Amino acid sequence: SLSDRLGGVFERLRGRGALTEADVRSAMREVRVALLEADVALPVARDFVDKVTEQAVGANVLRSVTPGQQVVKIVNDALVEMLGSDASELELGVTPPAVIMMVGLQGSGKTTTTAKIAKRLSGGQMGRERKKVLMASLDVNRPNAQEQLATLGTQIEVATLPIVAGQQPVDIARRALSAAKLQGFDVLMLDTAGRLHVDAALMAEMQAVAAVATPAEILLVVDSLTGQDAVNVAQNFSAQVALTGVVLTRMDGDARGGAALSMRAVTGKPIKFAGTGEKLDALEAFHPSRVAGRILGMGDVVSLVERAAESIQQEDAERMASRLAKGQFDMNDLRGQLAQMARMGGLGALAGMIPGMKKAQAAMAAVPGSDKTLVHMDAMIGSMTVKERAKPEVINAKRKIRIAKGSGTTVQEVNKLLKMHQEMSTAMKKIKKMGGIKGMMAMLG
Ligand code: GDP
Ligand code: MG
Repeated sequence: SLSDRLGGVFERLRGRGALTEADVRSAMREVRVALLEADVALPVARDFVDKVTEQAVGANVLRSVTPGQQVVKIVNDALVEMLGSDASELELGVTPPAVIMMVGLQGSGKTTTTAKIAKRLSGGQMGRERKKVLMASLDVNRPNAQEQLATLGTQIEVATLPIVAGQQPVDIARRALSAAKLQGFDVLMLDTAGRLHVDAALMAEMQAVAAVATPAEILLVVDSLTGQDAVNVAQNFSAQVALTGVVLTRMDGDARGGAALSMRAVTGKPIKFAGTGEKLDALEAFHPSRVAGRILGMGDVVSLVERAAESIQQEDAERMASRLAKGQFDMNDLRGQLAQMARMGGLGALAGMIPGMKKAQAAMAAVPGSDKTLVHMDAMIGSMTVKERAKPEVINAKRKIRIAKGSGTTVQEVNKLLKMHQEMSTAMKKIKKMGGIKGMMAMLG
């Protein structure tokens, strides 16, 4: 019979089930370890796990994967979203010269990255027209720092600002800016001095340079191998200068990408590039999904779950479409939905899919004391005869009294149950009108 077949559908949904808190907690222990092993900063890892735990409890588990695998997929998606929700293009659409200021600790890779970005822009890469780029080193601390940049400039055939001995960073920035304006450069790259540690003098210098140069981009360059330390660096720079993005260097090392997540969480700024080697073309666009896979070290699981999700969506759509073709919904179906509600603490998966379900939801919400109510409703349906369940319209006043007595409830409660069933049934008919679940899904896009 139709109701048996419908029952089968709900049985399947139940068999698949939803993630329980226990599933999620045990999987999250693994995730937490993976994050810390990938060098994600401790507070960032903690916040992330808390946030994702909340999302994961109650999520449906797909057939052919384990709950643990399902959690990994949820974690992966959350990572990707967090790592890459912003566009990571350089924003150079200002009146030229567009100033790009590089900041970061000593040895993080600022000078190298300055040359790498200059090479890209001047070579017409990044899918754009060639830019006329001028580079200037403001590093007056380290001996030969300015010469280092000049040498790189020669290598990549990008102009560097002539060195004037004894000039201070702010003055060099001023000179660079006017040279860039006078000589019609599109982009001016300012390579600043680093320190071994963040200190007040360094920050004051960064602020003074930024005030003079009004950069279109201030990029924080961070060594991805610094791991836990990277957070302090990011916090300090982020609080003192208006960063627009982050560049992670040494991604070619054995860094597992944890710094990326920490950087993103602490600065709130997009990661614009990844440095992948010492050579001047070893600069890549940042790929959130690759890094997420690296952090979790579970790329296979993610694609497994993705495939499972795809095939199930299609199967479900087709099976549901044929099973609900007649737009019927009896008490057995309602019972299945109630069981699901009890587990998920909300309307069942099916109810969530149905646009016309608002009234039914309202009817359910109108019933007070929902935990107990669900048990009562189940008891009421349990007290119905097979015929009453399949054809609830036969339930008259006399039958209502019998059902109420049998389930330890009241006639009023039986009426509420019948009303709820009526609303859901109406919603099912709407689905039929829309061309079944398949048509409905197509409409929803
Ligand atoms: P700065 O002090 O911040 O200007 O750092 P430098 O640009 O001078 O770089 C310090 C060292 O790190 C140099 O030996 C660079 O070749 C190296 N380096 C920079 N970026 C990368 C990278 O992405 N990968 C690797 N392997 N080495 C890098
Ligand atoms: Mg340098």
